Amino acid sequence: AKQRTEMQVESNVVVAVRVRPLTEDEHNRGDVTIVYCPDQHSLLVGASGQERAFAFDVVLGPESSQHAMFQECGMTRLIDRVVQGFCCTVFAFGQTGSGKTYTITGPHSLFLEGSHDSLLAGLMQRSLSYLLELVGQSEEGFHLCASYLEIYNEQVHDLLNPCLPYSLAVRGSRTQGFYVENLSVVEFHDLDSFMRLLEGGMQNRQSSSHSQNEHSSRSHAILTVYVKGMLTQGKLCVVDLAGSERVREGDSIEELLEETGNINRSLLTLGKCISSLVDPKKRNGHIPYRDSKLTKLLSESLGGSGITLMIACVSPTLGNLQETLNTLRYSSRAK
Ligand code: ADP
Ligand code: MG
Repeated sequence: AKQRTEMQVESNVVVAVRVRPLTEDEHNRGDVTIVYCPDQHSLLVGASGQERAFAFDVVLGPESSQHAMFQECGMTRLIDRVVQGFCCTVFAFGQTGSGKTYTITGPHSLFLEGSHDSLLAGLMQRSLSYLLELVGQSEEGFHLCASYLEIYNEQVHDLLNPCLPYSLAVRGSRTQGFYVENLSVVEFHDLDSFMRLLEGGMQNRQSSSHSQNEHSSRSHAILTVYVKGMLTQGKLCVVDLAGSERVREGDSIEELLEETGNINRSLLTLGKCISSLVDPKKRNGHIPYRDSKLTKLLSESLGGSGITLMIACVSPTLGNLQETLNTLRYSSRAK
């Protein structure tokens, strides 16, 4: 079993599941937990006696720390690849309230209340501090910069330059692949300057909406870090995806677009691209990147020789059982 595990973690698509703990409200209400993690690779979901079993590359239970999440998902291997010149992607997927933002950037309090509890820092900050450490040890003069954007209703907004109120165009070129026209790309040299950039972007994400939760549940945020060496050019994309609760398996694409006004076209297309990429019979055929903005922008890193890490986030409660099963099914398709 150990050998098999190592092979899976060495593969190009790694699927992890993270179960968040009960929130204080859920605890006070007496909500029932129906998700169990018997070991680091399996998950049991459902009421006692009717559990369904799932297996994933990595399973992180409700007690897992942010540090363990970073380590166990193989983030250091992924960032090593970026420094070597590959494009790698991490995305957090799951219903609203399942812990995507917590996993990617840490709890809201970390930014909104200016708390700098580094134990709670998310995958983004940990990735950047590991990257800066690697680059700092190297003789080669690396050049680092970042962009941060949001896709809302298939419109692209620059989070580092909110003065541009309109949707930026996604263009394709033979040499560059798909890219966002006029997107700001900001240089940084250390963790402090990166954190200022990130904080500014996160504030812009929030102030651009009437209702914070409603907005973040419908938008995808993509941070891209460009790592340029003497002869290499690597890229890391970290994506906090929109809530998956509007993607229904049985819905036709027409119904879905009508209901959500494009909001989840990106999510649906991402699922289709990934399931084609992991199928050896389909991998070299047509992958529908062009069907959404999100997949256009991730095409280089999804289709190349980099690594894609998908973190499926789930809530532990009985009330969210249906959404949890949907999330796990979507993630299983990625294998
Ligand atoms: P999402 O981004 O998927 O909508 P959030 O990251 O906002 O979900 O998480 C919902 C709530 O659960 C927040 O209050 C968050 O702080 C809490 N939470 C999520 N994951 C964890 C975790 N692993 N440990 C502790 N609290 C968590
Ligand atoms: Mg969120």
